Amino acid sequence: MLMTFSSHSSFLFLISLPLCISIKMTYSFTPNPPRLSSVERNDGNFRGLDIERDVDRGSNTFSVVKIKRYLHYFGYLPLQNPSFDDQFDSELELAITRYQSKLGLSITGKLDINTMSQILEPRCGVSDFAPGKHVTRRYVLFPGRPRWTRHKPIVLTYAFSPDHFIDYLTSNDVRRVFKRAFARWAAVIPVSFREASDYGFADIKIGFYSGDHGDGQPFDGVLGILAHSFSPESGKLHLDAAERWAVDFSTEESKVAVDLESVAVHEIGHVLGLAHSSIKDAVMYPSLKPREKRADLNTDDIEGVQALYGSNHKLRFGALLRSETSVSSGVTLLRPCWIGLASSSSLLFMQLCINCFLLLV
Ligand SMILES: [Zn+2]
Ligand SMILES: [Zn+2]
Repeated sequence: MLMTFSSHSSFLFLISLPLCISIKMTYSFTPNPPRLSSVERNDGNFRGLDIERDVDRGSNTFSVVKIKRYLHYFGYLPLQNPSFDDQFDSELELAITRYQSKLGLSITGKLDINTMSQILEPRCGVSDFAPGKHVTRRYVLFPGRPRWTRHKPIVLTYAFSPDHFIDYLTSNDVRRVFKRAFARWAAVIPVSFREASDYGFADIKIGFYSGDHGDGQPFDGVLGILAHSFSPESGKLHLDAAERWAVDFSTEESKVAVDLESVAVHEIGHVLGLAHSSIKDAVMYPSLKPREKRADLNTDDIEGVQALYGSNHKLRFGALLRSETSVSSGVTLLRPCWIGLASSSSLLFMQLCINCFLLLV
């Protein structure tokens, strides 16, 4: 059932190539935006979504139409020719069940309070749906396992669009945040990232965009969809310019502030080839509350990205020390001992020892 759905409507193919060359395909999400306004999403009483009790099969409400659009947008409701009505039918029940399973909720098949709360949370705009073929444990890879295929050692360049920036953060602040975000991934895979001055030739192109910005995936204003990016080797990483992006919550007081580093780490995961995880502590979990910080890689994230690129066999003690001094939080993802213990790799065990050393000095 899931495979049938994926082949019809779930992904945007930016590069048109034969199906057999699936590694060259770029996946994103269905082009129909959800119709939940930011006001409806951000209102804890669900005003506009008349959910005052659990809604289940057989019901028909105004809100069901919106929920159908939302679930369709994020890949849970397979409709060939979408005609969203207000009937809570068996397809919607199945879609809600899938959504609850994917997001780690209690599986009730109803629009209950927990499910509605999750739906109303700000989140990544990339579809949650990926066929089960490449699912291992909880992390998910895009169909065809697309990854960056370069001569080793892999070095990817990134740059910021000079025309799509935000005025309330300094360039240095944003660059510092992304340097830390890239360092988190580079610490666990044999891929390094280097900022380039030439935006046009960079592998990974980062920018802040408003509303409809030409890729068929319009942003929706404050909260709601925060950002989106594309699977390898597109390299596009877009952030919603309407958000109040925060680099430091001690100085940013907005209640709707969104942690830039957490979202950067998440979107870089997509750029590298990871889809959404159902582990709530993973950076690849699709939603992020305002003022929440979730930038440390989870074991699930590490296992996922290492399934694509292998582990960082060339991590040198000196390099780690340099990264510790130059990227203040980059080492934090290596510090938790369970990361090393979770792997059978002796090399990772060596990383564990180095981390313990770093904790002692
Ligand atoms: Zn995402
Ligand atoms: Zn975009």
